[in-house]
Amino acid sequence: MRVETSMIKNTLSYLNPFARLGKRKYSIIFPFIITTLTAIVLEYYFSHILHTPSHVRTPAVLIFLGLIIYFSFRDGMRGGTTATIITISYYFYIIISQYTTQEAFIRDFETTLAFAALYLAMTTIIGGLKQKTDIFIETEANEKNKLQTIIEQMPVGVIITDMTGKVTHANKQLETILDIKIPIGSIFGQDKTKNKASQSPLLYVLNTKKPLKRREFVFEKKDGKKTYIQISASPIYNNSGETFAAAATITDITHQKELEKRKDDFVNIASHELKTPITSMKLFINSLSSRMKKIKDAQTQKIIKHIDYQTNRLQELVNDLLDVSRLQTGKMIFSKEPFLLNDLLKETIENLRAIAKEQNIIFLEKNSLQVSADKFRLQQVVTNLITNAIKYSDPYSDIIVQIQKDSNKAVVSIKDAGIGISREEQKKIFNRLYQVSDKKGKTFPGLGIGLYISKQIVNKHKGSIWVESEKGKGSTFFFSLPLLQRQ
Ligand code: ADP
Repeated sequence: MRVETSMIKNTLSYLNPFARLGKRKYSIIFPFIITTLTAIVLEYYFSHILHTPSHVRTPAVLIFLGLIIYFSFRDGMRGGTTATIITISYYFYIIISQYTTQEAFIRDFETTLAFAALYLAMTTIIGGLKQKTDIFIETEANEKNKLQTIIEQMPVGVIITDMTGKVTHANKQLETILDIKIPIGSIFGQDKTKNKASQSPLLYVLNTKKPLKRREFVFEKKDGKKTYIQISASPIYNNSGETFAAAATITDITHQKELEKRKDDFVNIASHELKTPITSMKLFINSLSSRMKKIKDAQTQKIIKHIDYQTNRLQELVNDLLDVSRLQTGKMIFSKEPFLLNDLLKETIENLRAIAKEQNIIFLEKNSLQVSADKFRLQQVVTNLITNAIKYSDPYSDIIVQIQKDSNKAVVSIKDAGIGISREEQKKIFNRLYQVSDKKGKTFPGLGIGLYISKQIVNKHKGSIWVESEKGKGSTFFFSLPLLQRQ
């Protein structure tokens, strides 16, 4: 039974010209056999069964017209031309075998030639179109294949879903990174293992229509090993702007994360190790300088002052590094208390005026704004922003510190007329270890962590920090803090 069905299916698809679209297989033998057989059957039927050979003409025109159209569509110009040649030969056979008068013969001869021209024109148009369509379909399929091969062999994990979030493609690299099979039709990231990637980033982009940029996830592999992956995903739009799919690239960043962790560990250990000797150095310097005061040797006192200053710098740097590791490990403790922001700014500015002898720090006070915050940490933020303003601006320029109220927030601004920061750099300066370097390389000393620490501290107080600046035209750093209620 099954054999028969498949035979019928095969025969039908062999005969069906639509089933052959896109396949450039053009037979000559099949049209030759069928057209010749048709001619023989017609000839036999009308001459030997009906005994009216002249009646064959009209059915012959119709039947062969049909056959030529069919073969042009099935086998292109080759098939159509083969059928046309047989047909016209048969027409000639008819007019020769049914010769009556020369006049009639000439008339029939001319008609046959006209038919030949018509049939050839038809086969050129239909057969030509069929061949063009085949090439088009084939190229399309090739392009699709090529694209699929590229996706399959890309050096990053690639996943594509339809608009409902169901996977339509997942390449080998992705399965290698995650060490799982991703079945077509499944929803990526929503599997039973309940790993962190289970928020399905692709569903997120499909629902929000927003791209996802370099989002990091932790993925637990089958063997229990943690893999850090970075996903970028985006909805895919058709020409009329409607979403019809979503695509994501997935990179394994485990190695990078390990290096980062090692770097963090190093900073952590180094800063802890440096802390103790510096503290003892400070003690010794203090004791030395009180001894030296008695001796009154101006030169030695000057040297000790220098040592003291540099040790303080060193201590500040180490403290900053320690703060970074505290922030990284979530060990920075904040003890909040209510106070007037104005007082804190005033006190900090007073201290800083001592070091910024050349710049003029102007403070535009506002007395009543009360916040609840960690005083020491906020002082650190203000100090950092003002020392940056001093560091990155010309001597004798003004630094304006202002405090304002904006609905339920206090906004502090520190404005300098210094070197400014380009728009591109503004996005990065609050990142850890980021320093702006000019074309010649680094120009200012520092570790590039002050703004990072400040941002973390302000964020921990539910505030925000930002900058407005133009290269060469100075910068204004702002930070805002929620006001204590009842103001
Ligand atoms: P550091 O000052 O130690 O380099 P920060 O984190 O405090 O580190 O600052 C990061 C970078 O931002 C600096 O390297 C500097 O290029 C830029 N920057 C910070 N404040 C200013 C400012 N007031 N004017 C111009 N550039 C600044």
